[in-house]
Amino acid sequence: MSAGPGRLVVAGLGPAGPDWLTPEASQALADATDVVGYGPYVDRVLERPGLVRHASDNRVEVDRARHALTLAAEGRSVAVVSGGDPGVFAMASAVFEAVEAGPAEWRGLDIRVLPGVSAMQAAAARLGAPLGHDFCAISLSDNLKPWSVIARRLTAAAQGDFVIALYNPASKARPGRIHEAFALLRACQDGAAPVAFARAVGRPDERIVLTTLAQADPALADMSTLVLVGSSETRLLERPGADRPWLYTPRSYGAGR
Ligand code: SAH
Repeated sequence: MSAGPGRLVVAGLGPAGPDWLTPEASQALADATDVVGYGPYVDRVLERPGLVRHASDNRVEVDRARHALTLAAEGRSVAVVSGGDPGVFAMASAVFEAVEAGPAEWRGLDIRVLPGVSAMQAAAARLGAPLGHDFCAISLSDNLKPWSVIARRLTAAAQGDFVIALYNPASKARPGRIHEAFALLRACQDGAAPVAFARAVGRPDERIVLTTLAQADPALADMSTLVLVGSSETRLLERPGADRPWLYTPRSYGAGR
């Protein structure tokens, strides 16, 4: 048990592999006495003497955050880990939810959030530069919000001509949501808009499929997929000899039309 005041860092591990782990997050993991997170993320933190790894089930983020805060209040040096960026549909908000509802002393803890590479950034970099103009990110998970809100946001984003990054596009419990999402987008957006399914970006089983809104097969999306839906400006740039063209969105709206 470490003496002294405890602290808690919320660190993003990036979307895959050590190359997308920042030096700052890597140092925080090296300094921690305890790592708390969803099992597969905790598994990405190497075992070493003096480090206690606490893996938990994915569905209990706030319990996990409370556990981490309790350890920090006992004087431990805790790293809470998330995939990607910890502030994007991940543990940083769960920690603050737990602090808000928890004992007053938790507000005095030394808490730091360390940024990470989010899946949409990794996917965008693979594809070219689809996020070069205004974009939004929407999680299709309806665990924490009603589907009616998701549907309203999808429609508004398409009407606003944003590039849309869809996180959590599918799961075994909700296989139909991505089909409903595509139906909503097709109702208010040109079917020629480019769509990319970027699966397991940066991992050995990475797979990228480029298609159009009209032709996209929503069944290609699983829980390891980031779906990018282009705006009216997002376009393909052919490159001879490559597997696929670049996908990019110009910086100025209406340029080159
Ligand atoms: N905090 C994470 C997102 C957590 S939500 C981040 O910033 O990336 C989990 C969703 O992220 C997945 O359902 C998928 O849509 C996306 N995702 C995470 N890693 C990914 C990867 N390597 N390739 C593609 N999508 C990924």
